[in-house]
Amino acid sequence: MDFVGGSAAVCDAVLKLRGDALYAELGRIAAALLASPHGAFIPDDAIPRAAVDGALLQEVRADALCFGRYEVAGRTYSLEDWRLLEGLAGLTGSLLQVHSLARRTTHAYAQVEAQLAHQSQILDQIHESVLTLDRLGYITSWNKGAELLFGYTALEAVGRNILFLYAEEEPDFEDAFAEQGGRMMEVRRRKKSGEVFWASLSLSPLCDLEDRPIGLIAYLTDITERKLAEERLHHLAYYQELTGLPNRTLFGRLVDQALMVAQRNESTACVLYLDLNRFKLINGTLGRRVGDELLRQVAERLRNTLRDEDVVAHLSGDEFAVGLFDIRQHFEATTVAQKLQGALEAPFLVQGHDLRVGASIGISVYPQDGQDAETLLRMADIAMERAKEHAENPDRSVAFYRLDMNEGMQQRMLIESGLRHALGNGELILHYQPKFEIGSTRLVGAEALVRWKHPVRGMVPPIEFIPLAESTGLIVQVGEWVLEQACAQAAIWQRAGLPPFRLAVNVSAREFTASLPGRVAETLRRYRLDAHWLELEITESTLMHDIEHVIAIMDRISALGVALSLDDFGTGYSSLSYLKRFPIDTLKIDRSFTTGIPQDPSDCAIASTIIGMGRKLGHRVIAEGVETLEQLEFLRQAGCDEVQGYLYGKPLPAYEFEKSLRENWLLMARMESDAAVGSVVWSAK
Ligand code: C2E
Ligand code: CA
Ligand code: CA
Repeated sequence: MDFVGGSAAVCDAVLKLRGDALYAELGRIAAALLASPHGAFIPDDAIPRAAVDGALLQEVRADALCFGRYEVAGRTYSLEDWRLLEGLAGLTGSLLQVHSLARRTTHAYAQVEAQLAHQSQILDQIHESVLTLDRLGYITSWNKGAELLFGYTALEAVGRNILFLYAEEEPDFEDAFAEQGGRMMEVRRRKKSGEVFWASLSLSPLCDLEDRPIGLIAYLTDITERKLAEERLHHLAYYQELTGLPNRTLFGRLVDQALMVAQRNESTACVLYLDLNRFKLINGTLGRRVGDELLRQVAERLRNTLRDEDVVAHLSGDEFAVGLFDIRQHFEATTVAQKLQGALEAPFLVQGHDLRVGASIGISVYPQDGQDAETLLRMADIAMERAKEHAENPDRSVAFYRLDMNEGMQQRMLIESGLRHALGNGELILHYQPKFEIGSTRLVGAEALVRWKHPVRGMVPPIEFIPLAESTGLIVQVGEWVLEQACAQAAIWQRAGLPPFRLAVNVSAREFTASLPGRVAETLRRYRLDAHWLELEITESTLMHDIEHVIAIMDRISALGVALSLDDFGTGYSSLSYLKRFPIDTLKIDRSFTTGIPQDPSDCAIASTIIGMGRKLGHRVIAEGVETLEQLEFLRQAGCDEVQGYLYGKPLPAYEFEKSLRENWLLMARMESDAAVGSVVWSAK
């Protein structure tokens, strides 16, 4: 074997063999190369032994590393032999080094791979979904838990921005990155199926080998179950299970909150305490199942009777409470109380039984009776007991906590039921008060004013029943009646050939709805009354609600040819900038200012200002409540267009008004150009 053959053999052996087989082969090659009877390769880690006598030895090493030694023996060796063995040893060392390096790298690789597989196996085994994001929110990894939770495979998710999983816009997304994790939150996310769920999310920073942040690790767990349980608990804590209404605790909170608003607005609030009559008897005789169903139905009727902003609660057993906050005056609560009692009037049908329950109601008033829900509830309870005790019909009994309020209530209830009766029995009548053009003393209009001819009390002035009718809503029926009656009367005058004048009808804020123009048009048509006969007086307070809405209604009324005037002008505080947008014809200076003329300088100034403003805006101005010649003279000089008041004429029934009207008409015809100020032009003063 020559050196080339020996080298090839060593290469082959190092590549293919290992351990003892390799060592034996190396020994065989050395023996063959040096044509010796004995040849061996003794690895460095072999048990040390003495060399064979007369053997030629050569260490096999590469750099500082020793692999072992060659040992050949059996003949005498020359320098040439030694060089040959040295060459073989050098080659063997290099080969062994390269080979061991290669093996070690492969091994390390395999180890890393195994470790990675191990880790992803762990990640996939845990139930949590774990994903990693880069600094811009792009998903860089996605475990099995994430696949299960979201329904997207890693293939679908990796590389997309995390935002596609968000259930709603989350503007603070950037913050999570700014903060670099370390926080827990409860978030809502969307699955591939579209389902939105609650998840707890914790973020921790993802860093590179140099510990620089390169993204985030996100851990998500589905907590929908827990959330639902929490909601159920919340519901149990704050709602009566049977009826689904808020319980006493929640009622207290809601009322206390609303009272804070009431305090800011300096408004009134009321708490109603309802106690069902006869419920215990029904529950006792027909059983709990019937009782429960009855309570559910009662709760539903109560809820349906109230407005959304009212609070109704089921306190316990047969006791309910209501909180009213959007009220102007305490007595409005009685109207609500009566409505609630009315709602319970029809029998309840429960499991074949026709059941009747009613409620006694006690009312407490904020701030007079208490400053907080608890106190108000207690006072309302006391009032309820009183209501029940003293009533002939407990199902209709309502009482305030304060006795003076009760007196007012009784009075009001009498008037209210009386007024309903009056509407149906023709007890209402209209009186007419003339309006004159200043200077010419020509009658230009009249105002229709309602009166109540009470069979016992005699003539009841509107001041005693109009505000009440407004608070109960009865004003709408009263208003309908007045418009009807006024148009009927005007049509008679129109047909009788009287010279046309405007008949003004007062319209309260509550009547001023989108249906008003239609009703006016229809009434005019029915009586075949020319629209120029009609005028509507609306109060300034009407304009303070939804301005655009009000303007739209006004425009429709003007379009009919019906005039509009602004009553009680100066008493409200309508924005002057809006004033020019209202399609009104006349401003009516309130009587409270006329009264002060001419002795009260500020009343005079107000009247003059209104007149000046009205002229600038192109409106006519009328002063009401003119009683003296001094007032008339002041108004005339200030440039007022028209006057109305006792100086000229009091409101009169239709027949008497017509008589005076005809006289005025004749007089005017006779006088023609004679326009003496204050001369008697209206006989029935
Ligand atoms: P108002 O619209 O300001 O009506 C003018 C009130 O002043 C009328 O009182 C009238 O009789 C009274 N009055 C007129 N001239 C004089 C005067 O020279 N001196 C004095 N002291 N008073 C004078 P009335 O008829 O008692 O009506 C009071 C209020 O009731 C009216 O105020 C109006 O707000 C309301 N009202 C009357 N009729 C109706 C109606 O049909 N519908 C509506 N919604 N409200 C009405
Ligand atoms: Ca009026
Ligand atoms: Ca007035």
